[in-house]
Amino acid sequence: MNGEVLKNLINGAWVDSSGKEAVDVRNPATGELLAKTPLSTAKDVDAAVQAAQAAFPAWRNTPVAVRARHLFRLKALLDEHKDEIARICTTEHGKTLAESQSDIGRGIENVEHACGMPTMMMGQSLEDIATGIDCSTFRQPMGVFAAITPFNFPPMVPLWFLPYAVATGNTFVLKPSEQVPLSQRRIFELMEKAGFPKGVLNLVNGGRDVVEALCSHERVQGVSFVGSTKIARLVYETAGKHGKRVQSLGGAKNFLLVDETAALEQAVQNACDSAYGCAGQRCLAGSTVVAIGSVYEKMKELIVRNAKNIVVGDGLDAKTNLGPVITAAARERIIGMIGKGVAEGAELLVDGRGLKMDGKYQNGFWLGPSVFDKVKPEMTIAKEEIFGPVVNIMRADTLEDGIALMNSVPYANAGSLYTSSGKSVQKFKATAHPAMLGINIGVAAPMAMFPFGGSKQSFFGDVKAHGGDAVQFYTDRKVVISRYF
Ligand code: NAD
Repeated sequence: MNGEVLKNLINGAWVDSSGKEAVDVRNPATGELLAKTPLSTAKDVDAAVQAAQAAFPAWRNTPVAVRARHLFRLKALLDEHKDEIARICTTEHGKTLAESQSDIGRGIENVEHACGMPTMMMGQSLEDIATGIDCSTFRQPMGVFAAITPFNFPPMVPLWFLPYAVATGNTFVLKPSEQVPLSQRRIFELMEKAGFPKGVLNLVNGGRDVVEALCSHERVQGVSFVGSTKIARLVYETAGKHGKRVQSLGGAKNFLLVDETAALEQAVQNACDSAYGCAGQRCLAGSTVVAIGSVYEKMKELIVRNAKNIVVGDGLDAKTNLGPVITAAARERIIGMIGKGVAEGAELLVDGRGLKMDGKYQNGFWLGPSVFDKVKPEMTIAKEEIFGPVVNIMRADTLEDGIALMNSVPYANAGSLYTSSGKSVQKFKATAHPAMLGINIGVAAPMAMFPFGGSKQSFFGDVKAHGGDAVQFYTDRKVVISRYF
């Protein structure tokens, strides 16, 4: 890779963006320039949407089983190129190869799931709703849909949307994160090989201008967004104002509760994997671990030991458990958050800020793991998403107090309880705010066949990503009442 300016895929052709500016894409482990993402314009978006609109009638009239066959071919191509895509992902994002494998792996699961669209999209019928009158509902595609995605899962997040959108008969425009455009470039090349007709799938690189143009374009029927809460709200408002369907997934602050009946060693290992995986840059990262009752001292000791044993390094090296963070700016922001935690009185038991790497890694965006103890609910680090390799430890006397801490933050994406008590699980399921819960599981992973999305300020909209919700989001239901004389 050589710092080339990337192209957009519009109407089946790789074309130059009309934008004059571009964003550097760097390998976070070395700082090396990989490519430049053009900041495309409303004109580029219009070309992509017009192409998608033109492709819609024929694609919509292609039998659903034939549409699904394109996805079968795509799935085979993605399987074949899985290692290659994982390496691209690690190189542009920094996460370990194992994390990249599971990133593209979960994406492929969505392609696989959407292959079942001929069944998933079926409507309902009822005979004789009145004498001699039958009633049926049909699910029909709507036109052009768009998705806008974040930097932290470069292959996977676009695949939460795209397979379902096109399997149901819509056409599609993706704007990937300008920070990690390379995995999607490769995936779109494979989509071309899978034989989708031109205009069905379009890729427009860029940032804010592309987002604004997609959210306001009259031909776009619906928008899926994944990213920070600030932008999720903005997209929800803008696209909603322009009459579109919107599902907008935002930021998170996830709590993991550990009670006295939990298998402690496994719980801590799992909690640390949740917090430090992908360098903490996950919307499902369990960044605050709450010790309930007497478990605190032992839990703290185990967390500190775990953090000190983490091997930081290049994600391409099999020994690495923790890669760099995405950019130099992200590193500075996280260091700022750690400084704020110290200033507000939390105790920094492990400090990852001073980490230096040598040789070709000296210009990478490195941070070691950090652990904060004595975190109080009013502190910034307890309330705001850190999105870096930092664990907060908090204490609660009872499960109810732990759940109250979890529920006190404005986000409600995911949360977990480590316990062996069924009664505690019942209480947790009933009263915890997050819409995605784990029991003895640190990351309530996105499973293609189930819906995915949080609540409160972690999600704006009603119909969530993938699973059965995707079919609902991407189709309109038409009711037909019929009788014959
Ligand atoms: P981000 O909000 O900065 O960017 C997301 C997308 O929005 C990108 O495509 C970006 O180009 C665009 N964007 C950025 N600023 C914009 C602006 N001012 N106007 C219009 N568009 C803009 O998020 P990020 O840093 O890429 O990703 C990290 C965030 O995403 C975290 O908050 C994380 O929790 C969240 N996230 C949430 C989920 C979820 O399922 N809820 C999943 C992954 C990531």
